[in-house]
Amino acid sequence: MKKSEFNDYQNKSSKEKYDLKSLSVKEIYSFFENLGLPSFRSKQLIHWIYERMVLSVNDITEFPKDLRTKINDMAYISNIKMIKKLVSTDGTTKFLFELEDGLSIESVLIPDDDRLTLCVSSQVGCAVGCKFCLTGKGGFKRNLGAHEIVDQVIAVNRYLKDKKITNIVFMGMGEPLLNLDNVVEALWRITELIGISKRKITVSTSGIVPNILLFQKKAPEVNLAISLNASSDEIRNKIMPINKKYPLETLINTCRKYPLNPGRKLTFEYVMIEGINDSLKDAKELVRILKGIRCNLNLIPYNPFSENTFKRPSDEKILAFQKMLFHKNRRAIIRESRGQDILAACGQLRASN
Ligand code: SAH
Ligand code: SF4
Repeated sequence: MKKSEFNDYQNKSSKEKYDLKSLSVKEIYSFFENLGLPSFRSKQLIHWIYERMVLSVNDITEFPKDLRTKINDMAYISNIKMIKKLVSTDGTTKFLFELEDGLSIESVLIPDDDRLTLCVSSQVGCAVGCKFCLTGKGGFKRNLGAHEIVDQVIAVNRYLKDKKITNIVFMGMGEPLLNLDNVVEALWRITELIGISKRKITVSTSGIVPNILLFQKKAPEVNLAISLNASSDEIRNKIMPINKKYPLETLINTCRKYPLNPGRKLTFEYVMIEGINDSLKDAKELVRILKGIRCNLNLIPYNPFSENTFKRPSDEKILAFQKMLFHKNRRAIIRESRGQDILAACGQLRASN
């Protein structure tokens, strides 16, 4: 083996073995080539990791025993560990996963008719620090590797046995556009190796302006959602400090430039917080700033958690807001978050035991 060729491989574990799950497809091919193995073996390995969802090289029964031993000597397959599972009264399931370095993340499975949507995390914690979000309160620990993002999908598919995840939203812990390369690589593996269509995946961002168009270039056709949450800089600055760096006007102008294929739309999310952004004046302003943008608009009533002073507006207030939007020809859907009883709803993820 030419040592120099392997210096680039990421995630050599403390056991000094290469983690096959952390390698890209290209890296797997060159890794096996360097071991003197034919390329069909790489293809088989990829199939066994992403479709058969094996936990170790020993489980790859298609490999002869001596080949498994040879690979085992220098490589292994990492797995995030499902350490806790909470099921909500509405069927939503929250999973707590432990990573190799001992940190933890959460993913949430939301069943809905014939859909099974998995909400995945892209970072451990989040640096953006939105005032209404529990993940933001906990601060930032580190980015997830592409394999740790994909492994949430693999682990939950394994748990589901005869069913499969049909849709994915990047709305768990973290800001996906601040971990762009790993998110893009994870999206590639989820679509090409696991087989979930790009149209069934949505990445949500707090508005990291320079990375929005970059995201479109690197992951075209994956849906993008923007967490708007306010219709003026004054209010957005108060609840989303990122707005001071990327103010509304630049954010909205970038959204206007976002190339959309026919029939496709951007999504805007608007978390409704009592007395902060829920007035009819806010609704009118929202219509004004979104004018001409092909988009869906989701109103998400604020989900409370104990350390926060914000409140969810009354149902009447939320409906009046929606009605004002309709009146101005802007349709909006009220999205009640699922799994609130187990702190699995939007903004309630913290990954504590
Ligand atoms: N960081 C990304 C994705 C994760 S947050 C983003 O901010 O878009 C996913 C969604 O949850 C965002 O739309 C966010 O505005 C919303 N959210 C955060 N805290 C919330 C809360 N307490 N109640 C309701 N929605 C919340
Ligand atoms: Fe981070 Fe999104 Fe929470 Fe804001 S809402 S702190 S960007 S996870």
